[in-house]
Amino acid sequence: MTKFEIRGLRADVLIGAEDRQEILKGVDLTIDSGETHAIMGPNGSGKSTLAYAIAGHPRYQVTDGEVLLDGENVLEMSVDERARAGLFLAMQYPVEVPGVSMSNFLRSSVTAVRGEAPKLRTFSKEMQEAMKGLSIDPAFASRGVNEGFSGGEKKRHEILQLGLLKPSIAVLDETDSGLDVDALKVVSEGINKVKTETNVGVLLITHYSRILNHVKADYVHVFAGGRVAESGGPDLADALESEGYERFVKAGA
Ligand code: ADP
Ligand code: MG
Ligand code: MG
Repeated sequence: MTKFEIRGLRADVLIGAEDRQEILKGVDLTIDSGETHAIMGPNGSGKSTLAYAIAGHPRYQVTDGEVLLDGENVLEMSVDERARAGLFLAMQYPVEVPGVSMSNFLRSSVTAVRGEAPKLRTFSKEMQEAMKGLSIDPAFASRGVNEGFSGGEKKRHEILQLGLLKPSIAVLDETDSGLDVDALKVVSEGINKVKTETNVGVLLITHYSRILNHVKADYVHVFAGGRVAESGGPDLADALESEGYERFVKAGA
């Protein structure tokens, strides 16, 4: 059982060497193991900033508040320590790492998080099975990480990592963006598989409610003006889909 708590989180984005802008303006959110929380909000509302602040990206500087994983202060941990503590981030725009093969990258990640290197043959098998489940061509194992991958292939790769790393809390930033209907299904099934197998707590950041037809959210939060503007159940996603975000953007301004 894991409890992930975000309390009054404020964060600035660092722009260039001199400038900074406050994006997160007091975020409160608690996620327990096994729960899926969807965060929905308009573009530019700070959803990715929240994901990066949690993950420890150096460009996003926390100025106030707390992030706790089972009471441990996440903000004092290095990026590696956060991953080892059980935090995982699937990025909205996954980075390309040319020259590092997917299989080497995944094995290194798994080694870092598990604290010991998995046996090569066991890991190979595990990876191939996970790839199959996500309809990823086995040939991708020897390709450079995300190098020349399509948007959908990058998203599948993020979920492949999720399945292999088995975090206790996963932040999935717009994993549904840019996916066609078939890819959305495959990726959603991948997320659901990890959910049933591991009891992970999920923070599902999304712009559209369609992924919630495939991945069931227990709670839906509206993100506007750098904070959680409203929380509710799955019905809230339907309301947003028909009404849009305008009401919340106005209220948050
Ligand atoms: P969302 O994910 O909800 O679309 P973001 O967190 O990406 O929103 O962005 C929130 C705001 O912060 C936007 O106005 C965006 O332009 C700004 N911002 C985010 N990252 C950077 C950055 N690296 N440099 C400059 N501005 C940024
Ligand atoms: Mg965006
Ligand atoms: Mg974003």
